[in-house]
Amino acid sequence: MNIHEFQGKQLLASYGIPKPDGIVAKTPEEAAAAFEKLGGPIAVVKAQIHAGGRGKGTIKGSDQHGVELVKTADDAARVAKALLGGELVTIQTGPAGQTVKQVLVEGGCDIARELYLGIVVDRAVKKPVLMVSTEGGMDIEKVAEETPEKIYKEAFLPDGGLSDEQAKGLAAKLGLEGGSVESAVKFMQAICKLFVEQDCSLAEINPLVVTGGGDLMALDAKINFDDNALFRHKDILEMRDTSEEDPNELRAGEAGLSYVQLEGNIGCLVNGAGLAMSTMDLVKLHGGQPANFLDVGGGANKDQVTEAFRILLGDPNVKAVLVNIFGGIMQCTTIANAVLAAYKEVGFNVPLVVRLEGTEVEEGRKILAESDVDIITADGLTDAAQKVVAAAGAA
Ligand code: ADP
Ligand code: MG
Repeated sequence: MNIHEFQGKQLLASYGIPKPDGIVAKTPEEAAAAFEKLGGPIAVVKAQIHAGGRGKGTIKGSDQHGVELVKTADDAARVAKALLGGELVTIQTGPAGQTVKQVLVEGGCDIARELYLGIVVDRAVKKPVLMVSTEGGMDIEKVAEETPEKIYKEAFLPDGGLSDEQAKGLAAKLGLEGGSVESAVKFMQAICKLFVEQDCSLAEINPLVVTGGGDLMALDAKINFDDNALFRHKDILEMRDTSEEDPNELRAGEAGLSYVQLEGNIGCLVNGAGLAMSTMDLVKLHGGQPANFLDVGGGANKDQVTEAFRILLGDPNVKAVLVNIFGGIMQCTTIANAVLAAYKEVGFNVPLVVRLEGTEVEEGRKILAESDVDIITADGLTDAAQKVVAAAGAA
């Protein structure tokens, strides 16, 4: 789960991590009032969407950037007006962009240096890893690719946190001196603690700035949480903004389906994550592109399968659908009946290829064969993949 920058910063502040004062605004008038309240002389108006790259991104149909420095209340209102309701397109949103529904008006920070800080769980070392770099503010992926030696890392144990030595070592590598060292040590230790206690999957501060006075401050905050741990963080769950999430993924989640939207044109309905992965591999092997990953689970019922079809067929990119079910816990007759029921209810406008295997497979195939529904049946995975790729190509 992802949250907005202003929510991430509230969380940082609750751990004593310095951030600029800020006020959320939903109208230009509120933005102007926020500017007055912050007291100037400089503020920054920042679009709040669940995506980064806002500073360089622009509102569709204009040259308004997602982050802009302002010097008057009128200016704050003007920028808020240009942002609110617009579609902000950044390198992370895709071409459709994301609608700006609120802005953060924040006190302008006196920036001496822009650093980078990030924490992720490193599966190779089986620990959270704190990464810092002198190359903040810009594209950290590019730094990682071209000059990885400029990223310094320290792994830490969840119960021990980041030690003084580790924090001081990183501060030295960042070239910090004097009072900035203590400020950095406090910052790093606090954010490592936050990461562990709040079950984060990512905490990224880019830029982490050194102010003119030598203090460290979080100017941006991107914090993601491990979905599997949300049950023990009711306060975090309250920050969820489902309007920022993929509507299909959201619907699927509500129906208990695992769904990931992809760019291709072949809708896949599969039971079991492993089978879903190999189905997608085979579709690709035979020259097709999956439109999604969809695991209806081992014991999916008729309603779930019907909802799965609704989601698949609601995607305008889908030109053919492949149903690949191994009847283990689920019987093939159940899925055959569910396919027919869904077909009638949802109405298919694209070719449907079905491959069934497992418990009650003969009965299941018979149900499909005897129906008046137009289904392309397949024997085996390769046959199914070839048929669906051909069907999508012909569509
Ligand atoms: P994004 O990463 O989505 O582009 P950021 O929050 O990192 O958005 O803002 C982009 C840039 O805007 C920062 O690198 C920083 O230079 C500047 N900036 C952001 N917030 C402030 C602030 N409060 N004061 C001064 N400059 C800011
Ligand atoms: Mg940033």
